[in-house]
Amino acid sequence: MFSERVQKMIADGISYPLAKKSETEDKEYVKMCSNENPYGPSPRAMEAVKEAASDIEKYPKSGSLKLKKAISDYAGVEYSQVCVGNGSDEIMDLLEKATMDPGDEALIPIPTFSQYELSCRANAMSTKFVELGNFEWDADKLVEEIESSKIAFLGRPNNPTGNSINRDGLKDLLETGKIIVVDEAYAEFSEESVIDLVDEYENLVVLRTFSKMFGLAGLRIGYGLANEKLVEGVERVRPPFSVNKLAQSAAVEALKDEEFVEKTKTKISSGRSYLEEELKDLGFEVLPSKANFIMTSPAPIGFDSSKVCEYLSREKGILIRDLSGFRGISSDWVRITVGKPKQNKRLIKGLKELKEVENDD
Ligand code: PMP
Repeated sequence: MFSERVQKMIADGISYPLAKKSETEDKEYVKMCSNENPYGPSPRAMEAVKEAASDIEKYPKSGSLKLKKAISDYAGVEYSQVCVGNGSDEIMDLLEKATMDPGDEALIPIPTFSQYELSCRANAMSTKFVELGNFEWDADKLVEEIESSKIAFLGRPNNPTGNSINRDGLKDLLETGKIIVVDEAYAEFSEESVIDLVDEYENLVVLRTFSKMFGLAGLRIGYGLANEKLVEGVERVRPPFSVNKLAQSAAVEALKDEEFVEKTKTKISSGRSYLEEELKDLGFEVLPSKANFIMTSPAPIGFDSSKVCEYLSREKGILIRDLSGFRGISSDWVRITVGKPKQNKRLIKGLKELKEVENDD
């Protein structure tokens, strides 16, 4: 019934790590596991959704012209260098369809976002994983390892480590001529971007999304910035109406609301500092992050990650991501999405209580 590649995915137990409790249980959880924006979208984007809904019997504009124009102004690239998709997940998939043949290899530094592997496998590609030793980026090693690959996927900042390959290292990788996908899903939190290199390197693809800073994860809208030939290839394999009408309208308005972005950035950054300090005080190991999440380990105080996640969901109704079993992570780590101040406090309170309970035993 299934293709060989899907049979292999089933046999290997490969699937996207969803927040299963929030998918299957009626209980309302505080989700601090999927790196969403706790402040939601700009009110202007919400208004645009309502307006677009009045016209819902008609197909969306297939070419997303208005949105592409808005993105080209926002990102400072040519209109012809922009493609939009049903989430940046779709751009990833379409890019592979447009540029890769069965068996072609992708270089994937790990740990990282699991969708890179999943989409490669779904497109009959092979994968080469290179571990980030101590969760640090080693560009020279990646330049060596990329030799056999045709494409590489790099998060910048990377999910879940929260750090990035440096610009010079990235340029060395680009000089190899392989297609380099730089996923900037969290770039609006970090203020670091390599969009300016799109003109210089024909083999660079920058992925962006409206799911994180812009708070529109539920609408599914993302974009890619690249050389216009690559964009043309992506458009050839894109289903004509994959980007829905509500998403197109909301995204145009979201880009205009600079004040919303600035405010969110400040709030998330102070929430992240609060969590970092409190986690360190509790004795957790904390990796410095430039994104809206923190990778942290309870191992130094003798807890395993599953105990921490289980306690928070049961006692506090908070979901965080257990990273044990993630490719490239051999010990106890979790990833926590920065929430609103009250949510962050509730989480820290829960961890303090867990520590007390354990110390009493
Ligand atoms: N890239 C990274 C690094 C992510 O963490 C995520 C979502 N968790 C995405 C892309 C997916 O973005 P989208 O919602 O636009 O498909």
